[in-house]
Amino acid sequence: MVWFYAVFVFIFGAAIGSFLNCLAWRLYHNESLWGRSACPKCHKKIYWYDNVPLLSYLALGGKCRHCRQKIAIQYPLVELATACLFLLAFSLHFFGNEVDLFLTFSSRPLWLMVRDWLLISFLVVIFIMDLRWYVIVDEISLPAIVIILLINLALGMSWTALLSSAIIGSGFFALQYVISHGRWVGSGDIRLGALMGVALGWPKILVALMLAYLAGAFIGVFLIAFKKKHLKSAIPFGVFLAPATLVALWWGPALWQWYAGLLF
Ligand SMILES: [Zn+2]
Repeated sequence: MVWFYAVFVFIFGAAIGSFLNCLAWRLYHNESLWGRSACPKCHKKIYWYDNVPLLSYLALGGKCRHCRQKIAIQYPLVELATACLFLLAFSLHFFGNEVDLFLTFSSRPLWLMVRDWLLISFLVVIFIMDLRWYVIVDEISLPAIVIILLINLALGMSWTALLSSAIIGSGFFALQYVISHGRWVGSGDIRLGALMGVALGWPKILVALMLAYLAGAFIGVFLIAFKKKHLKSAIPFGVFLAPATLVALWWGPALWQWYAGLLF
């Protein structure tokens, strides 16, 4: 039975990924969230059957039906990634659990999964927008902070732990923002730091920050070595913070123990 749900979760995740692609585009371009999607190149409306997550991209050979120009690979990649992340969150909270999941709406694993799905969705939009346009918009980060905080409180996490790690997360970036006059990090990173704090609590927030800096340094050196970037290029740091948040959320305690074991 769990496999039946897994297939459903994957399809649901792909559909949400499709919506997040559209949300990121419309937020950046200040377009209404209502109304049908159009091809960004020829501006023709996209038929519903050309808008099926993953499948339409394959069926159309990655090209618009009208103008035959390429559809950005971002679209199927985000749909696939969201589907996989939704499935991962589902499996982490439900595999090995004997409960008949969706029938027990009061069950804790269900709410943990819903919290993770929401966090994934917010972070996917932040990732897309920071990577493409170097912005983290308040329309995403502020509702995300409130919603994730409320769910975590409802799940019984201590508000002092959440609040203090939110202060650590946002303070860490606020300090860099002030010292560098906004050259090292953007003001959006401060809000993202607060989101990471309320999502993770202590000490997972530290794990996430460390992971993001390790990944950022590693990929930064790689890009400089291959001359894709130079030392003073702007780095959209949310691109590292978003995945690091999910890794710390799911495997933070294990990573923390492993790291502490190395030290002592
Ligand atoms: Zn077109």
